[in-house]
Amino acid sequence: MPRFSRRTVGKAALATGLSVLVSTKSRAQERFDVVVVGGGFGGATAAKYIRKIAPKLSVALIEQNEVFYTCPFSNLVLGGVRPLNSIAHRYDNLASKWGITVIHQRAGRIDPGARLIRMPGGREIGFDKAILSPGIDFDLEAIPGYDKAALALMPHAWKAGPQTRDLRAQLEAMQDGGTVIISPPKNPFRCPPGPYERASMIAHYLKTAKPKSKILILDPKSKFSKEGLFKQAWKQLYPGMIEHLAAADDGEVVRVDARKLELESAFGTVHKGDVVNFIPPQTAGVIATNAGLANDDGWCPVDPVTFESRKAKDVHIIGDSAVAGAMPKSGFSANSQGKIAALNVVAALTGRQPVDGSFANTCYSFVAPDYGISVAKVYRSTPDSIVGIEGSGGLSPKDADADFRAAEAHYAEGWYDAITQDMFG
Ligand code: FAD
Repeated sequence: MPRFSRRTVGKAALATGLSVLVSTKSRAQERFDVVVVGGGFGGATAAKYIRKIAPKLSVALIEQNEVFYTCPFSNLVLGGVRPLNSIAHRYDNLASKWGITVIHQRAGRIDPGARLIRMPGGREIGFDKAILSPGIDFDLEAIPGYDKAALALMPHAWKAGPQTRDLRAQLEAMQDGGTVIISPPKNPFRCPPGPYERASMIAHYLKTAKPKSKILILDPKSKFSKEGLFKQAWKQLYPGMIEHLAAADDGEVVRVDARKLELESAFGTVHKGDVVNFIPPQTAGVIATNAGLANDDGWCPVDPVTFESRKAKDVHIIGDSAVAGAMPKSGFSANSQGKIAALNVVAALTGRQPVDGSFANTCYSFVAPDYGISVAKVYRSTPDSIVGIEGSGGLSPKDADADFRAAEAHYAEGWYDAITQDMFG
């Protein structure tokens, strides 16, 4: 529920002789203690946990979509293992159970100086503290030939939802014997093991539905997350089906022709696919970059304890958009950061000391529906960055047996149910 502006409260307080902190900065009529932009892994978590920790604070969550499709498990949709609606989540509990004002509109601009968010139609929403968790946007100018039309012809499916459905439809329509090309971007990008899980799940589908088909991964990097485990499993489960070209093998794509479904490599080789999943280079969400909150690389530097922007007071940035030291851009990271940001935003609003962060991340990947692998680590805030704690976490063992891999796939299902309940339950 919105509250009165601080100016109004200030006047009332003066009239009654009470002493309160009076700010005349924001002139918005509609105001909340905290406004969260983006109802995904970081934002939904932060909004809910602020209300959990401090039920008296008013919280608005601005999220453009009424349904949130998780990227985690979207590769299983591409592999035909799960339907799209199994990764769909709504915001009803956040509104009815947690008392969050959920606003389904696209936030236009944030004005950190005036402490307000400009919405379509001239609506302005003021805040004492804002938390931005807008995820990623794409750098459409980074690769020549890749443009808005390419988004439809070569669905990236790197934001789950309609793009996941479109890419799945292309895979279903492909002839047996076709080539699927997957082209991940350079680091950093959302979900480092995601492209390789995607190759695995598409291979799982092709193995039975279109066994003469091939998958080619054109990679601008020299190594990738969980590489040894993925490659071992590919040999065992999908022999001869997946080819991976690293940067040194001429894997870097420098030009795209979306109409011809062609990708050109740095050494001039043209690869033609029947389905092309080009995953473009990424930046912080556009609401953050438009407000000048990003650095030259396109990501938002933040205080590693409070997640307050290094470029704007009272605006906190979490999740994929933030520069979070050693933490990977994952849903688990965003969820973990959402809780620490919530704690520290409440601390600031109630005059308490900030709390140092301790964070966790586990990234599960499916190589087949009953074959899971994982990497895990614990992190902590230092004054300059977020660092991994030596000796924490680890990687799945290389030569584990089928039961072990099946158990990890089972744990991944449990992780998904738990984290989505934590965000939306
Ligand atoms: P998001 O979760 O994307 O949320 C951002 C939200 O902000 C969106 O709902 C968007 O609609 C909204 N938004 C943006 N701008 C505005 C605006 N101006 N106004 C209103 N709303 C706005 N992570 C894992 O931990 N485990 C996995 O197994 C895993 N698998 C993945 C598989 C794939 C294929 C991909 C692509 C990613 C995967 N990830 C995984 C990564 C994970 O999805 C992201 O790291 C996570 O979603 C980041 O959270 P976020 O809050 O930063 O952004």
